[in-house]
Amino acid sequence: MFKQDAFTLIAGPCAVESFEQLETIAKLLNKLNIKHLRGGAFKPRTSPYDFQGHGLKALKWLREVADRYQLKVVTEALSTQTLPAVIEHADIIQVGSRNMHNSALLTAIGQATQKPVLLKRGMSATYREWLLAAEYVASAGNSNLILCERGIRSFEPSCRNTLDLAAVPALQAESDYPIIVDPSHGTGRPDLIIPMTRAACACGAQGAMIEIHPQPDQALSDGHQALTFPELIDLVEQLDPLAKACHRPLA
Ligand code: PEP
Ligand code: MN
Repeated sequence: MFKQDAFTLIAGPCAVESFEQLETIAKLLNKLNIKHLRGGAFKPRTSPYDFQGHGLKALKWLREVADRYQLKVVTEALSTQTLPAVIEHADIIQVGSRNMHNSALLTAIGQATQKPVLLKRGMSATYREWLLAAEYVASAGNSNLILCERGIRSFEPSCRNTLDLAAVPALQAESDYPIIVDPSHGTGRPDLIIPMTRAACACGAQGAMIEIHPQPDQALSDGHQALTFPELIDLVEQLDPLAKACHRPLA
């Protein structure tokens, strides 16, 4: 689980595309001292004709690369059918925005594992609905939860979502779960990801999850919002002094 007195960065591709892609990314994370690798093996796509993820193969690549570079794997459980494989290969089980209301999946996760569960906010979920979704996992037997603010649907068309950073202190007042921020899905814009990560740190979040890609224009999903490697390096350089000033050094 995340350290209370640190700001934890999670980075990786939207979707796992190949072993080589993961290895290139893991080398960068290693250099930047980032300990958490994200990547979707099962992808919840809006269109059924878009890339759905490499599935079990991708889980195996994630595990192998993470073990080689001593990283923790964060990956999404999309359904109860594939949940056992995700639990076997992941260190942190992600529940995506589209599944926040899937009580059957939440209960199954709570019953099946004590591994940390990263619960993303539904794209139109209230704080209460989000906390009650967490309660489904907790009441089924696993209170090891991390909440992730990932933006909500609003009327503003220039961003993919509207990142609700007020959720961070608001939920900290109501629960003891760590809360992190996903500025990648929260804004959908590379130019806003670094400033919003700084803001997430300043408002008390315990970490941030960032999508990166060696060649965003070649990505099989969410390339438009992926940071390049130099941009991730820039993010860490900008964040480091701020995180220290906030007494939560980068982890
Ligand atoms: C993701 O993080 O891979 C993802 C699909 O995000 P969300 O569930 O927030 O849309
Ligand atoms: Mn994505």
